[in-house]
Amino acid sequence: MPDERTSPSAGWRTVYGEMGASTDYEADTLDCPDCGDDSPRVRKATFWCPNHGAWTVSASG
Ligand SMILES: [Zn+2]
Repeated sequence: MPDERTSPSAGWRTVYGEMGASTDYEADTLDCPDCGDDSPRVRKATFWCPNHGAWTVSASG
């Protein structure tokens, strides 16, 4: 006589966990490292300061 009382427990819970895991989002504006003014993004790692012009985010750190 086979036992059919096995119930699927996990599975759908792991899917919900992965969906809410990665929500990192880069800002569209950064503060100028020299004057601290708002610098909107013009490229992936390049921002534009109204006082200093274009500057690039350094990957160090
Ligand atoms: Zn600046």
